[in-house]
This record gives sequence, structure tokens and C-alpha cells, in this order.
Amino acid sequence: MNYDLLKRLCETAGVPGREERVRALAQKEIKGLFDSTRVDPMGSLVATRKPTRARKGERATRVLVAAHMDEIGFYVRHIDEQGFLWINPAGGFDPRNLFSRRVVVVTEHGDFKGVLNPGGKPIHISSEAERTKVPGTEEFFIDLGRDAAEVRKKVQIGDFVVMDEPFIETPLKVVSKALDNRMAMYTAIEAVRKLSKSRSGHAAEIVVAFTVQEEVGLRGAQVAANACAADIGIGLDVNLACDTPGIPDNQRVSKQGLGVAVMIQDSSMISDAELVRQTCALARRHKIDHQRAVLPRGGQDAGAIQRSGTGARCIALGPGTRYIHTVTEMVDKSDLNATVELLAALLADL
Ligand SMILES: [Zn+2]
Repeated sequence: MNYDLLKRLCETAGVPGREERVRALAQKEIKGLFDSTRVDPMGSLVATRKPTRARKGERATRVLVAAHMDEIGFYVRHIDEQGFLWINPAGGFDPRNLFSRRVVVVTEHGDFKGVLNPGGKPIHISSEAERTKVPGTEEFFIDLGRDAAEVRKKVQIGDFVVMDEPFIETPLKVVSKALDNRMAMYTAIEAVRKLSKSRSGHAAEIVVAFTVQEEVGLRGAQVAANACAADIGIGLDVNLACDTPGIPDNQRVSKQGLGVAVMIQDSSMISDAELVRQTCALARRHKIDHQRAVLPRGGQDAGAIQRSGTGARCIALGPGTRYIHTVTEMVDKSDLNATVELLAALLADL
């Protein structure tokens, strides 16, 4: 498999409310795969593919696939006299993962690389107590390594910040910032590409919404879903794989290498039981590795689709992901491929 598209998606900057670069990339990549596309008022990119095999006299089932474009990041909330930038998070960060990070500040005058650290003393001069305390996100600041006057001229409050880490591949895994949820965009695009090449086609009308502002509460999906009035919703998002040291096996949620995770319950929704049965049976029929997962905390866009308009039957799919909401998010390639396979099979089957 070639992960060049995934790499480009992951390395593009886009926090909740500022997804325009990611959207532009998606718009280019989906050319020819859909019959129509539009950008809704909130900024979500909604692409529709008409059924290729119609059932006589029947209205086609409308399926809405949601893949959020935003990644967790920050907005600049204050610029001080010395030119240090103070930030406000957009999305859920664990401050323990924010120490000594390289970041990019996206401004109207260009993108500037900088470093993120909490206020405080370096190890050489700090006390034991100072070294064990975890600061809140409000205590972190960005140093752009530029003259304060230049910083104050070029950066303004409301400019956004993302982590700056390249995408890498190992023999088994892909590792990057923002795999949550560029993985899903990649999956949706590749699954529809697969479908567009298959001879049997699909009887459902397929709508893919590349949504905005998921990380701050499924906001874009809510609007996109209301406009779509889908019969069935599929949330594509990273699942948790806590199959690493320090976590008891009974809390692993999913395990890497066992295939795509079919989400039964998370804190945003409970999947439609019949749809889960249908999806798992389909996976077995196509010999696609899959596992069932219950996620005690965390949500995804299908939670909004399920409760939109007059309601929709929903399910969520995604590969188990390690080290979520860090710059070292890790996905197993075989699980990722299984996600593409199962989504394509499901879209062809519905
Ligand atoms: Zn996500």
C-alpha cells in the first residue's frame, strides 16, 4: 500500500474552525469520485455519489460517512512584551504530552516554526517539587525565536497552532500527528476509489462528509447530518488501542493487528445492533479481520448523525490507535487496510 495521501493529509495543518487547507487537499483528491460536492456554511466538505445500480421503484438508501478534518491544536490567546505566545487549546490535550514540542504557528504572514514549553525552570535549577508538577495547558507558551517586535507585527490573537512532526512509516505501522482523523479521510477516499472501480457498483446513495470541528464536540457533523437526512450513518474515526505497557489487558479497548474495530458503544452513541450484525457478517464473508470494541470514554461524528433530523441508524468503524492525541499516534497498516476494505464492502452492500 502507498500511504503518500495519508502522509500529505497528516502533515497539513487544520485545527477546529480552520480546516481550509485540509479541505482544499481533499477537494483535489476526490476529483472524479463523486457526482457532486459542496461546502456547507460551517466548512464541511460534503460529496455525493449517486447509486450505480438502482433498485426498481425504490428510493435508494442514503448513507452518510463522516470523517472529520480537524486535528487538536491551539489558538493564540495572548502575545506578551517579549514576543512569547500564550495559547488556548482547541480539542483535548493531555499537558503531559506537551513538553518540549515543535509547533507551527499559521498566520496571515506565513507559517512560523517554534517551540512549546511550560513556564518554569530547566532541570538544573528546579526543585524536586517543581519537577513533578504537571502544568495546565494555560501555562504553556510558544517561543518563535524571533524578535519580539517582528512577532507582534506578524502574529495576531486568533492565529492557530499545530504540532510539527513528520509522518513516518515502520514495517508494520504508520506514525504521525493528526492520524486522528486524517486516517478517516484517507479511508473514505480510498474506499470510494475502490468502489468506483468495482464492476458490481452500489445501490445506496453515498454521501461522504469531511466534517469540521469534531474535536470540540461533533459540531460540523451535526449540521452536515441535518442537511443530509441519511438513513444510515457511518462514523469513521480512530479507536483506542491500549495494548501497550502499563495498561491492564481488560482496558485495552482494541488490539492492534486484529483488524478494523467495529464500535459497539462509546460515550457519544450506541451502534445500531442490526447494523453491527450485518457489518460483522459481511466482514466474515469477505474475510476481513475485525474486532468488536467498547470505548468507555470518547465520541465520534456518528453520535451526531444518529440524533440528526428524524434519526439515523449508525455504526462507527476505525483502526485501534495507540498514543492517541499525541504526535506519536500509531496505526497498524493491516488494521488500516482492513478498515478501507470493510468500508468499501459495506458501502457496496447497503
Ligand atoms: Zn477523532
